Amino acid sequence: MSDRPEPLPQLAGINVYVPGEEAPSVGGRSYKMASNENPLGSSEQALAAYRAEAEKLWLYPDGGANALRKAIAEKHGLDADRIVCGAGSDEIFYMLARAYLAPGDESLSTRHAFAIYTVVGQISGATNVVVDEKDFVADVDAILAAVTPKTKIVWLANPNNPTGTYLSFDEIKRLHAGLSQSTLLVLDGAYAEYVRKNDYASGIELVSEFENVVITRTFSKIHGLAALRVGWAYAPRHVVDAINRVRGPFNVSRSAQAAAVAALGDGAFVEKSVAHNTAEMARLVQGLQDLGLETLDGVCNFVVVGFPDQDGKRPADALAFLKSRGITVRGLDGYAMPHHLRISVGTVEQNTAVLEELTAFLGA
Ligand SMILES: *Cc1c(COP(=O)(O)O)cnc(C)c1O
Repeated sequence: MSDRPEPLPQLAGINVYVPGEEAPSVGGRSYKMASNENPLGSSEQALAAYRAEAEKLWLYPDGGANALRKAIAEKHGLDADRIVCGAGSDEIFYMLARAYLAPGDESLSTRHAFAIYTVVGQISGATNVVVDEKDFVADVDAILAAVTPKTKIVWLANPNNPTGTYLSFDEIKRLHAGLSQSTLLVLDGAYAEYVRKNDYASGIELVSEFENVVITRTFSKIHGLAALRVGWAYAPRHVVDAINRVRGPFNVSRSAQAAAVAALGDGAFVEKSVAHNTAEMARLVQGLQDLGLETLDGVCNFVVVGFPDQDGKRPADALAFLKSRGITVRGLDGYAMPHHLRISVGTVEQNTAVLEELTAFLGA
């Protein structure tokens, strides 16, 4: 008998998620480029919808998020009954783990995958098996080789954060074809809107065709609503039913639902965000390469850049230098990428500043 209440034993093994750091204000400059937030902010229409909800704070949200699911369904040509909304797509991952993973089960993710997949598995007492990537790209053969009868979920962000790399739809189909029908394939499309590649697809077709594929999407990135916490899954009906059994009845707030519906209606904001990202990411990559730094071939809204293994020039040194100039970017030690930093694409001004400061850093 313990002398105090004990939490579940598996919780001790969890590395608590470390969010991107706020930037200190230095000489009036405070540039956070550490969390892949939308540098253009959010849609004015979403803001207006959010403000209107301030007049109705005593009302519960629509627990079924019906208007939002309908708006998502119309926008993407989906069946609203197969959509379920979460407080961020993170909550969808928590709910999937709760519904499908138990002690003794395995889930699977790749070496430099999004950290939450491991955490949600651990909470359920399952083991998350980590599979090596090939040059920072998920390796379908390695994933399939690691699958066992205990594998209940395969998590794959496509494209992935923090590497920024992606698998073609052909590769995704090959991965799915190699899985047993009882293994759930979760395709996290948090950055899907940013990808400008003809061989990419978020996987919606697979959900329509098979009983073991789920895709997740978020309002946090392209729609610039990270503060509100809204994400969604498109899933087979039996998976939606399982999620709804573990879901809190009012998991997405009224204001979040209203703002998300309005954001879906503001296609111009999304287009502007994509165009900005495409242009600025190219400029950032070119600028970093001109400094002699290596960048990974990414398709999201951030650039992953390698630093020399040289005293005073390592990622930790660059992080500290940038922070002293009022800029935060993301260190990747926690993602087994100690030689890289992740820089979120910012405003024109922010990207110029990061390039100027890194020029100074490398020349110092
Ligand atoms: C940012 C991000 C998300 C989105 O998380 P939310 O909870 O919806 O804010 C999901 N997956 C990956 C890989 C991400 O980088």
